[in-house]
Amino acid sequence: MKTALMVLSCILTVPSAFAARSVEEFKTSAGALKITTVMHAGFVIEAGGQVVIVDPAQGSWDGVPQADLILITDIHGDHLNQSMIAKVKKPNGAVIAPEAVVKTVTDAQILRNGESKTIGAWKIEALPMYNLKRGPSEGKLYHDKGRGNGYIVTYGGLRIYIAGDTEGIPEMRALKNIDVAFVPMNLPYTMTPEEAADAVKAFHPKVVYPYHYMGSEPKAFEAALAGSGIDVRIRNWY
Ligand code: ZN
Repeated sequence: MKTALMVLSCILTVPSAFAARSVEEFKTSAGALKITTVMHAGFVIEAGGQVVIVDPAQGSWDGVPQADLILITDIHGDHLNQSMIAKVKKPNGAVIAPEAVVKTVTDAQILRNGESKTIGAWKIEALPMYNLKRGPSEGKLYHDKGRGNGYIVTYGGLRIYIAGDTEGIPEMRALKNIDVAFVPMNLPYTMTPEEAADAVKAFHPKVVYPYHYMGSEPKAFEAALAGSGIDVRIRNWY
């Protein structure tokens, strides 16, 4: 009885370390592609026998296949965790990151906003991600333009947009032909669910996942997109 109670109390006190992973499958011209959510901003993309991991930082990554390629968006601890990178990367795996991250992860390859790289069947494009108005104090922003990367990952014609920590910037609103999008919504660091919905309406992905939403209500995002024809998929990221 005592043991059962201890197990129960552990489950109740640390639920965030065990966010329920969700496995999502997509068709591409090069075969099936699978996305597994992990936590907050971290997830796994698998296709063609290759593993791409985005922002392995928070939560449990036990049981996740090791990565051929890791994409890091920014320097903050909810995106950049050196020991987690070491844990989930194959010995010969690569890391792609903005220059500010490469100061810490010194063996990463730098990709700057606007640059792209093709690795085998994968194309990785780095996009801006930044705050328009929100910051820690007057005149400062949480995310300055040029420091971090959003990404578009293309595999077998499927275009996956990873917004990173950003508000609804013009570069996001101008995107075209996005199949799957991951968009943040939390204050004070990014934007509200309503602002996120407004930006998403502008570029109209086929499928959108609210992510990086701790403290926000993704249902408000879903409600704001009702009738838009965009497939909003709320998953448990915490
Ligand atoms: Zn963040």
